[in-house]
Amino acid sequence: MAMARSENNPDRLAERLERAESRNQAKAADLLGQLQLAPADQGPSGLGIMGGTFDPVHYGHLVAANTACWEYNLVGVVFVPSGRPPHKRGKVITEQEHRYRMALLATCDNSQFFVSRLEMDRPGYSYAIDTVKNFAAVLGPRQPLYFITGADAVIEILAWKNINEFFTYCSFIAVTRPGFDLGGITVEPQLNPIYLDNIECLEIPALAISSTDIRQRIAQGRPVRYLLPDAVHDYIANSQVYAPAGTAASEAGFEY
Ligand code: NAP
Repeated sequence: MAMARSENNPDRLAERLERAESRNQAKAADLLGQLQLAPADQGPSGLGIMGGTFDPVHYGHLVAANTACWEYNLVGVVFVPSGRPPHKRGKVITEQEHRYRMALLATCDNSQFFVSRLEMDRPGYSYAIDTVKNFAAVLGPRQPLYFITGADAVIEILAWKNINEFFTYCSFIAVTRPGFDLGGITVEPQLNPIYLDNIECLEIPALAISSTDIRQRIAQGRPVRYLLPDAVHDYIANSQVYAPAGTAASEAGFEY
């Protein structure tokens, strides 16, 4: 794998991960505490729930989360790596601990971002409804919740578990790649029309970067530096998490 100038010292990477984990816990406690105390009508309010597989997390995700945070004046954004995405049964996805650690490293230096193990630690499939209900229970009804994810997901949103109930808890921010056309999507028949107003679109030019492309580049030995944070780049190089099939390290994926 052609990965340039990487931090290849396992001890230093372990230290970096330990620091990122401890900082993540502090940020989570701080942001959730602010949300529990703050009246929703003054200053920033609400939490963005960034749902995704993050396989791996990249700058497109970070720009999307930051833009949503700014546009909706949110207190913060929690990244929730999927544990067992229901729509990916039978597919091989990267072991969740790798995806979680990469998200930790990517968000470490932003005091408004933290990462949650919620979907990873919850048994069974990772349904978004269970995730938003959890944050609604923690924060109470005064704080608005925004589920942020790729616009491609809107196409299939009717297949999501308890989708009408989902919209009673949160709004949906569909982040799109440049040129993505949502025009052909018809959600009206099954989705209660009162919830259509709860779907917002946000075009994020940086989402020209994609996790699929990054994995393909690595498999082909092409560079991925500057598509994702250096710390994530180093983690990938060190753990060989996306090593080409057939090598020992390719066991990082799992099927469920
Ligand atoms: P995916 O199928 O892996 O990704 C679909 C597209 O959306 C890809 O182009 C992906 O780009 C992009 N994307 C995914 N998450 C994104 C994010 N947070 N920000 C920007 N772009 C994003 O989708 P997924 O990651 O598995 O699912 C997305 C979210 O929807 C997850 O939280 C999942 O749990 C939820 N979901 C829930 C249900 C349900 O409750 N029944 C069903 C389906 C999905 P990249 O590959 O570059 O990320």
